[in-house]
Amino acid sequence: MITLVLFLLAEAQPALIFPIGWIGWTWFLLSCGALVWTGGRWFRFQRAWRRGEWAFFGMLAMASVFTSIFIGLRLSLFRTGVVYDLLLPADGFVLMVFAALPWIIAAGFLGPIASLTIAAFSGLILANYNTNSAFTVVEYAWLGLLVGAAFQQPYRTPYFRALRHPLISCLLLAVAFPILFIINMAVGYGQGGGAYLDYALANVPDASLALGGSVMLAALFAEVAAFGFPSAWGSRSRLIPSPAERSLETRTFNYLVPVVGITAIVLAVLAWRSAVNTAEELMKDRLQAMADLAAASLPAALEAGQLELIEIGRDNRLASQDAQQMAPLLAEFLQGSDYFQQFLIVDRELNVLAASGLPGEEAAALVPQEQVGAELALQGVPFQYYAVDPGPDQRAASLSFVVALPYGTEPAARVLLARTRMEANPFFNQAFAAMAQIDAVEGEGLLLDQGGRILAHSLPGLVFTSYSGELPDQPGTFRETGPRGARDLVHYFPLPGQPWSIVLRVPTQAIQSQALSTVAPFLGLLLFLLLVLIVLLRWVLRLVTRSLRNLAVEASRIAHDQQELARPLAVGGVDEVGRMRAAFEHMRASLQQHLEEQNEYLLRAEVEHQRLAAILASTPDPVLVTDQRNHLLLANPAAWGVLGVSGSQSIAGQPIRRVLRQPELIELLESAGDEYKSQEFTAVDGRVYVAKATSVVADGQRMGSVCVLRDVTSYKEIDAMKSEFVSTVSHDLRNPLTLLHGYTTMIRMLGELGEQQETYVRKIITGINSMSRLVNNLLDLGRIEAGVDLDVALIPVADVVADVVDNLQLQAAQNDQRILVEYVEDAMPLVEADQDLLHRALYNLVENGLKYSSKGGQVEIVVHASRQSETILFEIRDCGEGISEADQLRLFERFYRGKQKEIRKRRGTGLGLAIVKSIAERHAGTVWVESEAGKGSTFFFKIPVKQENSA
Ligand code: ADP
Repeated sequence: MITLVLFLLAEAQPALIFPIGWIGWTWFLLSCGALVWTGGRWFRFQRAWRRGEWAFFGMLAMASVFTSIFIGLRLSLFRTGVVYDLLLPADGFVLMVFAALPWIIAAGFLGPIASLTIAAFSGLILANYNTNSAFTVVEYAWLGLLVGAAFQQPYRTPYFRALRHPLISCLLLAVAFPILFIINMAVGYGQGGGAYLDYALANVPDASLALGGSVMLAALFAEVAAFGFPSAWGSRSRLIPSPAERSLETRTFNYLVPVVGITAIVLAVLAWRSAVNTAEELMKDRLQAMADLAAASLPAALEAGQLELIEIGRDNRLASQDAQQMAPLLAEFLQGSDYFQQFLIVDRELNVLAASGLPGEEAAALVPQEQVGAELALQGVPFQYYAVDPGPDQRAASLSFVVALPYGTEPAARVLLARTRMEANPFFNQAFAAMAQIDAVEGEGLLLDQGGRILAHSLPGLVFTSYSGELPDQPGTFRETGPRGARDLVHYFPLPGQPWSIVLRVPTQAIQSQALSTVAPFLGLLLFLLLVLIVLLRWVLRLVTRSLRNLAVEASRIAHDQQELARPLAVGGVDEVGRMRAAFEHMRASLQQHLEEQNEYLLRAEVEHQRLAAILASTPDPVLVTDQRNHLLLANPAAWGVLGVSGSQSIAGQPIRRVLRQPELIELLESAGDEYKSQEFTAVDGRVYVAKATSVVADGQRMGSVCVLRDVTSYKEIDAMKSEFVSTVSHDLRNPLTLLHGYTTMIRMLGELGEQQETYVRKIITGINSMSRLVNNLLDLGRIEAGVDLDVALIPVADVVADVVDNLQLQAAQNDQRILVEYVEDAMPLVEADQDLLHRALYNLVENGLKYSSKGGQVEIVVHASRQSETILFEIRDCGEGISEADQLRLFERFYRGKQKEIRKRRGTGLGLAIVKSIAERHAGTVWVESEAGKGSTFFFKIPVKQENSA
C-alpha cells in the first residue's frame, strides 16, 4: 500500500532510538569511527571550493531540509501492519521523493565531504521522523561519502569510469543498502531481543525501496547534470592509474576481499536460516509438548469435579432437609472438598435454599448459565458444567457444576450447584502450569470453549472475551499476524472428547532471538575469522609483493642513474621472486658489460673521428661531405674559404642548397654516383676549382657523397697564356708564310728550273702549305675558343651539307672515293647555327673520313633530324682503318694524332677534331665517336635546332 505524505513532520512524532547494549554501542561507534577515518582518507577527492561553491553548499544543505520533510510516499507494500512495542515506525517507511537529490548533486559538484555532510543532515531528519533509528544518520553519511568518492575519483580503469556514472554507482548503493540495514539492526539492537531483527527482516524490502527510490530518482537528475555541465561535474584532474593498477597487492586484495566477503555473507545467511528453522522446529515441538501436557490433565480434572459432585448428590439429606439444616451440611461438604469453593442448593423455583462458601455480603444468586443449567437439571439432565465469568482481573474462568437432587432420581426436587475457580483448583494446576511455560518465551497460552471464548489466558483481564484469531478444523501449528500486529507462531489443539481447545501463541521474534542466541557465537566467530583472514591476506600479500616492490625500486634506481648499474643486486631464495632477482641480476651484469664494451667502442670511434677530423683539417684541398638527405655533414677548414664561411658550426647539418652558392657544385653533389664525376666552377673568391665527387656507400646503401675540390686557377692562367702565345705566334707567322709562298711561286716565273731545283721548290711549297694550314687551324681554334660572337642564323642544313660535299668532291675523285648523303627525315629543318662554323665542322669530319679511308672507299653522311628532342644529328661514317680504344679517349684533344703507323703517314695537325669539338660546344652540342679497329669509324655531331642565347 502506498499513501502520499505531504508534510512528514505533521505525520509523526520525533523519536530516535539509540543502539542497545554494549555491542550495539560499540558497533555504532565503530561505524562512526570508520566513517571519519574513510572520510579523512578520501579527503583527497574533495575539491577546493571557491566562494561560489560555499554558497552552493549552503543552498543544497537548506534544500535538503525541504526535500527531507516535504513530499513522500509511505510504503507498506511488503508487510502487514506490524506493530512492535518499539519506537520504530509502525506505519511504514516513507520514500521522500527528492530527499537524496541535494546530497547526490553535492557529490558531483562539491565532493564527498560535502555530500557526506548533507546526507547525514538529511538522514538526521529522516531518522527522527521516519526510521527512528540512530543508524539512519550513519547510513546516510556513508552513502553520501561513497557516492561523493565514486563521482570524484580520477581513476582510469573501466570499472572506475563506470562508477563515475551516477546511475551505476547509485544502483550499487541501492543494492548494498539492505545489507547495511540488516547488519545495523541485528548488531546495533541485537541485545534488545529478536524483535528488532524480526522488524529488520520484515521491513527490509520497504526500507530499501524507500531509500533506493529517492536515490535512483536523484541519480537520474545527476546524470542529466553531469551531461549538462561536464566541466563542473566530477574530478577536474586528469585520469590516473587506479590503486589496483599500481599495486599488485591492492589488486589481489580487491579481487579476494569481495570473494571472501560474499562467502562469509552466504555462510552467515545459511547459518541464520538453518538456526531459524531449527529454532522454529524446536518451538513447535515445545508448543506441542505443552499443549499435550495441558490436554492430558484437563479431562481428568473435569471428571474429578463431576465424580465428587455426584458423590455429594447421592446424599438424600440434601434433597429432603430444610434450609436451616442444610447449611451446616453444605459447610461440612465444603470442608471436605479440595475441589469446590462454593455450594448452592436451589428449589424448583430456582430460589436459593442454602449456600456455603460465599463471601459474606454477596447475595446468593445464580448467574444466567447456572439458571439454564438448573432448569435443565430439573427437567431431568443429571449432570452439567458451565464456565462462568470469574470477574475482573482473573486469569481463568470459574466452573459451575450442576446436578439434580437427589442424583439419579426423577423428578428432581432440588438442584445442587457447585462452583470452583479453575485458577485456585489444584486439579487444574498441572494444565495451567503446562500452559504457563509459555511465559518463558513471552508467548500466550489460551483455553477456549466451543464458542471461541477465552476460558483461561496467561494475561489477566482477557478471560471471557472472545478470541479473535483463526481457529482451523484440524489441530496443528501455523503462522498468523497476532492481535498486536506482530507475527506469531500459533499452535491449536482441541481437547479430545471435550468442547474446549488449547491455543498457544508465540511471537516469531522469540524464534528469532532463539536463533540469534544459537547462531550468534557462530556469526561472531565468522566475523572474527573474516577479520583475521583479511588481516592475514593483507600481511601475506605484503610479504609477497615486498620483494617485488624492492626489485622494482632497485630497477628504477638503475634506470634513473647509470652509476647504480655497477652495484650488484642482493640475490637469494629459490622461489619465483628469488629466480626473478637472479635473472635480473644476470641481466644487470650483462648490461653493464655491454655498456662498458659500448663505451670502449665509442671511445675508439671518437679517437678515430678526431684523427680523421685532424687529417681532414690539415688537408690543403677543400673537402665536403654530405649525407643521404644532401645535408652538409662536414667541410674542412680549406673548404670554408671556398664556401665563404668562417667556421663549420654555421653550416654543418644544413641542406647544401642553402649553404652552397654554386649550382654546378650542388648538382654535382646531388647526382654523385659510383663513378667519379668532375665539374669546373668559379668560387666566391673568383678562383677556379675542379670538383670531383663520388657517393659514399656502406652496406650497399648510399650514405651520402664526398667531394674534393682542386684549385686549377694557375693552370687556367698558364693555359690562357699558352693560347695567347700560340695565337700571337701563328698570327705573326701568317704574313711571312704568305710572303714565302708568294716568292717561292715566283721563282718559277724567273725561268725554267732544273729538275733538282723544281724538287726543292715543290718541297718548300709543300712545307709552307702545311705550315699555313697549321697556322690557320691554330688561329681558327683560338678564335672559336676565345668566344668570338657566333654569327647565328637560320640555315638550311641541306645547303651546308651540299657545300661540304662540293668542296671535297675533287679530293674524293682523286682517290677514287665517293661521298654519299642520306637524310633520315624528309622535311629538313632549318637550324640555328653559325653557317661557317657548321660548315667547318662537317668539312673536317668528312675530310678525315676520306683521309683515313683507303682508295676506292666511301664516306656516308647521314642527317637525323629529331623533332621530339629538337636536335639535329650528323653521322659521318667511313670504312677506313678505324680507331683504337686508347686513341678514342684522346682524339678530341689538341695536337693529338693517332698512334697507328698508317695514320702517321697521312699529313695532319691534330687540330681538326679539336676544332669540331669547340664548334659543337659553342652550339651547346656534343661530338663523339664510335669505332672498331679495321672496320671504319663513325663520328656523331649533334646540336640543338635552336640556340638558347640567340634572340
Ligand atoms: P689530323 O687528321 O690532322 O691528324 P684530326 O684532329 O683531324 O687531326 O684527327 C686526329 C686523329 O684522329 C687523327 O690523327 C687520326 O688518328 C684520328 N682520326 C680522325 N678521323 C679519323 C677517321 N675518320 N678514321 C680514323 N682515324 C681518324
